[in-house]
Amino acid sequence: MEEDMNAEASQSLPLSQNTFRVLWDNIVNNPDSMPTSDWGTDEQIDALLFSDQPLPPINEQFFELGPAVAPQDYATPQAPTVAVTTDYPGEYGFGLTFQKSGCAKSVTSTFSEQLNKLYCQLAKTTPIELIVSKEPPLGALVRATAVYKKTEHVAEVVRRCPHHQNEDAAENSSHLIRLEGSQLALYYEDPNTKRHSVTVPYEPPQLGSRHTTILLSYMCNSSCMGGMNRRPILTILTLETTDGSVLGRRCFEARICACPGRDRKTEEENGTKQKSGKQLKKRKSPTLLESTECNKKTKSASSAEDDEVFTLRVRGRQNFEMLKKINDALELQDKLGKNKSAVKTDIPMPSSGKRVMKLEDRSDSE
Ligand SMILES: [Zn+2]
Repeated sequence: MEEDMNAEASQSLPLSQNTFRVLWDNIVNNPDSMPTSDWGTDEQIDALLFSDQPLPPINEQFFELGPAVAPQDYATPQAPTVAVTTDYPGEYGFGLTFQKSGCAKSVTSTFSEQLNKLYCQLAKTTPIELIVSKEPPLGALVRATAVYKKTEHVAEVVRRCPHHQNEDAAENSSHLIRLEGSQLALYYEDPNTKRHSVTVPYEPPQLGSRHTTILLSYMCNSSCMGGMNRRPILTILTLETTDGSVLGRRCFEARICACPGRDRKTEEENGTKQKSGKQLKKRKSPTLLESTECNKKTKSASSAEDDEVFTLRVRGRQNFEMLKKINDALELQDKLGKNKSAVKTDIPMPSSGKRVMKLEDRSDSE
C-alpha cells in the first residue's frame, strides 16, 4: 500500500511553478533554439498552466535542448534556478508562529522574532504553528525546503553531510529537513534543480484551535563539514495545491547548533549593537565607533563568562588591526591583572576615555 502511494507520488511529482517558469522563460528567450512545439502561444500556455485543465502530452524533444544546441548559440549562460524566499501570505493568509521558548541554556529549539531566525539542535523537533485566514482547498499540502541564504551558495542543493548520511539507513537519509509525526510525509528531489523538499497534507485546525502544528527537524548541524559547512540556510514553508501551485509562502533562517539559547542571545545582542553602531555611524565618524560598539559587546559578554571565546567579524584591515591591538592589550592586562591589580595604568592604550572607562568597569567586575 505504502509502496503504491510512493510510486504514485513520484509519478505525479508536483512541478514547482517557479522552476517551470524559469525553464520556460529560458526557452522562450531563445526562440531560435526552440524545437517546433505543439504547445501553442504564450497566452494559450499560460491559460493551460494556470487552469485546472490537464496539460497536453509533453513533447519529449522539448526537454532535450541541451545537447542539440551548440554552446555559442546561447547568448547568456543558463540562468540558475533560484527559489523564491519572500514571504507571501496569499489569499489564504498563510502565516507561522513559533512557541516562545526563551534563551535558557537547556532549550533545544528557539525562534528569534527579531532576526526571523530559528535556532535548534540537531535532530530535535521544532513545532511550527501554521495559520490561515480561510480554509485552503481540499488536498492542500505544506512543503518544507531548505536553500542556502547567500547568493554565492544559492545554486547548491542543501543536503546532509556524508557522515550523517552514512550513519542513517533511512531512505531519505540525504534530506536535511524532516517532517516528523506523520506517515504521510513525502520526500522529493526536484528533477530539475535536484533540490530536496518534504511535504505533508495540510490538516485543518482541531476544534477549538486556531492553528495546526507541523513538526520540523534538521538532521545536520550548520557547521557539518561536507554539508552546510557553516553556510547559513533559509527554510521555506509553502502552502500548495495538490498540483504544486503555491498558495502562500513563509521563510525564515535556521541555525542548527549545540546551544540554540546561547547563540540566539548572542546574535540578538550582536544585531542590536550593530544597528546602534550603524545609527551612530550616520551621525559621527564612521569605523571607530562601530568597532567600539562591537568591542563593547565582546567585553560585556566576556564579563559574564570570562573564558568564553567570541568571534568578531570586522570590516576592513585597518579596523581589524586596531581591534586586534585593543584585544592584545586587554589580554595582556588580564595576564598582568592576575598577578598585580594596579598594573593597568602602565599599559599603553589608545587614547579614548570611553575605552579606559570600560577597562575600569571590567577590573571592578573581576
Ligand atoms: Zn552532518
